[in-house]
Amino acid sequence: MTTSTDLKALVEAVGGDRVRVQSLASPLHDPHTLDLKPGQVSSLRTADLLVRIGLDHEPWLTRALLAARDQRVSGQRYDLDASTHVELLQTETPRLRERGATHVHGFGNTHYWLDPENARPMTGDIEAALARLRPADSVVFEENRRRFLARLDERLADWQRRMALYKGRRVVAVHDTWPYFCRRFGLVVVATVETTPGLPPTPATLATLPQRMKEAGVNVLIAEPSSNESVVRQIADRSGARRVTLVPSVGGDPGARDYLELFEVNITRLTAALAGTS
Ligand SMILES: [Zn+2]
Repeated sequence: MTTSTDLKALVEAVGGDRVRVQSLASPLHDPHTLDLKPGQVSSLRTADLLVRIGLDHEPWLTRALLAARDQRVSGQRYDLDASTHVELLQTETPRLRERGATHVHGFGNTHYWLDPENARPMTGDIEAALARLRPADSVVFEENRRRFLARLDERLADWQRRMALYKGRRVVAVHDTWPYFCRRFGLVVVATVETTPGLPPTPATLATLPQRMKEAGVNVLIAEPSSNESVVRQIADRSGARRVTLVPSVGGDPGARDYLELFEVNITRLTAALAGTS
């Protein structure tokens, strides 16, 4: 069991035909808010392994694990926090409470799977967890991971070549989903529409952000499928920026059918927006 489709894709890349994986969240859903169905809670109870993003990413998971009443899963050997060996960004973010809500990136930005290089430590931990569960297949997991990372390196070189032209370009994102992605591919996120992750923008942000974008020379606004359409339209119209919808999770677009194709879709959309042809 994984909390997201991205983790599902990575577990499948390592586990191959030796695993059967279900994701709790669907790819188009806001990953920070989720209400599990009763069937999912019982699946949680019977899963051999739970892989999650960790940090504050899944505030709904604690409730779900309590509902599953399964002490084995929480905090135990079979609960894998995929952030364990990832170098996090924004760990200095104070755990602000604005309008009564918890900051969902309070321990660092949780969207770390969007740097393809982070698939290396993540699949390393996944491989170790699977090998513990099924030692007899450890060679299979090791070989699957090796082949996956070789393909990843090859594709990453191509994505970086295509993005090189746009190095240093400034962008604004709706939710702060893209700091890892943008750092890897040379873009600078100068502002986010949601000033507190997970909360709608304040009237002050809506009023001043378009002008600030013009002044900063930002002409691309990154939205995602779960973004509020009227907010995106409003900011794009007033700032004159081109809007591009990027896909944060595997399966969020038919083309993004696995972890590598997720990046292919996003690099294709983003380069078109940056070039002004989308
Ligand atoms: Zn987030």
